[in-house]
Amino acid sequence: MNVAVRPQASTHDARLDRLGEVAVRVGLGLAPGQELVITAPLDAVPLVRRITAHAYRAGASLVTTLLSDDASTLARFEHAPDAAFDTAASWLYDGMATAFRGGAARLAIAGENPSLLAGQDPDRVARANRARSVADRPALELITGFNINWTITSFATPAWARTMFPELSDDAAAAKLWDAIFAASRIDAPDPVAAWAEHNASLHARTVMLNASRFTALHFRGPGTDLRVGLSDGHLWLGGSEPAKNGIVCNPNIPTEEVFTTPHRLRVDGTVRSTKPLSYQGTLIQDIAVRFKAGVIVDATARTGQEVLQKVLDTDEGARRLGEVALVPHSSPISASGLLFFNTLFDENAASHIALGQAYKTCLEGGTTASDTELAQRGANSSLIHIDWMIGSGEVDVDGIDVAGSAEPLMRRGEWAVAA
Ligand code: ZN
Ligand code: ZN
Repeated sequence: MNVAVRPQASTHDARLDRLGEVAVRVGLGLAPGQELVITAPLDAVPLVRRITAHAYRAGASLVTTLLSDDASTLARFEHAPDAAFDTAASWLYDGMATAFRGGAARLAIAGENPSLLAGQDPDRVARANRARSVADRPALELITGFNINWTITSFATPAWARTMFPELSDDAAAAKLWDAIFAASRIDAPDPVAAWAEHNASLHARTVMLNASRFTALHFRGPGTDLRVGLSDGHLWLGGSEPAKNGIVCNPNIPTEEVFTTPHRLRVDGTVRSTKPLSYQGTLIQDIAVRFKAGVIVDATARTGQEVLQKVLDTDEGARRLGEVALVPHSSPISASGLLFFNTLFDENAASHIALGQAYKTCLEGGTTASDTELAQRGANSSLIHIDWMIGSGEVDVDGIDVAGSAEPLMRRGEWAVAA
């Protein structure tokens, strides 16, 4: 699949409608009678309406959408009193958690302005982020624990398109970003739902191979990178669609190209450099270089966004440790597009990556029923944050290390070195 050159026969409206259908049928696997909670930027209303229509056709009992608005977010930073930045809408997140406990599915539409808060006081940004993370925790745990089916898809907002293509007019930039979103989301395939079934099968084959290998660690080597990532005891590799605890099979990310598992929070050592910028809550953090010792980041620098990065690392004890490691071939369609999206949903699927913070319980054998103490003993990290950043490229090699300490080539120059 080529993101840039494929001529499009169908209209934008038809493609947008297919994205809505893929989000509901593939992303959520929405079941008849289920409620659905959508969060979206205001600009994404055209897609929200299509998703809502597909959800009701799939038998949804009620679709509720919460819209966010960049200008209103900025107004807070410009005009609110300083003491306001420790406030979050706990009642709203509690309500969402209540909906999930009652069986509602969750859909988020990404498309935020990657640099919205770039000019704001990093301390206020960090306080607002922290307050929101604390308030969101009960709802987020139900999502990361896969109690419910959930998915994230995207909308080409004008601000996001302008960030990616500053040299183009707004219309041309949006058209280019839409082409990339539709291609990466497999919307232009003759039968998008069938294309996703095939893609899920190939990701599942890769997880079967990795789970059979029982590696105890991964070793990444590349420019500025010599990192050994120990894997948690009884870790499981996941990728593509998976069943939630409610029995519904969902694809948590549209698009997705990664296979991923849980590192051991005490067994990460060495240096690693980011290979793509990280857009975090409106701040662009570029050229991250960190050193791990016994699982903890002991040095961290970044060319831009360093203050925000430091505050992120100080969020809590687990923020300096890893909660995820993921492998993505350099030739993945998103990477092959050559585009930098400034959006984690896309950029993390263009490169192998690691995530600071919270681990996914589903990436451990019996993880969703194990106690927090047991999960911690097996190496699963715990934190208010989960932030993916990209460490793979066409210059990075990855070895799998087995229990006897011998290395098996897994990726060479960013490509799989073993058959699935
Ligand atoms: Zn990931
Ligand atoms: Zn992640």
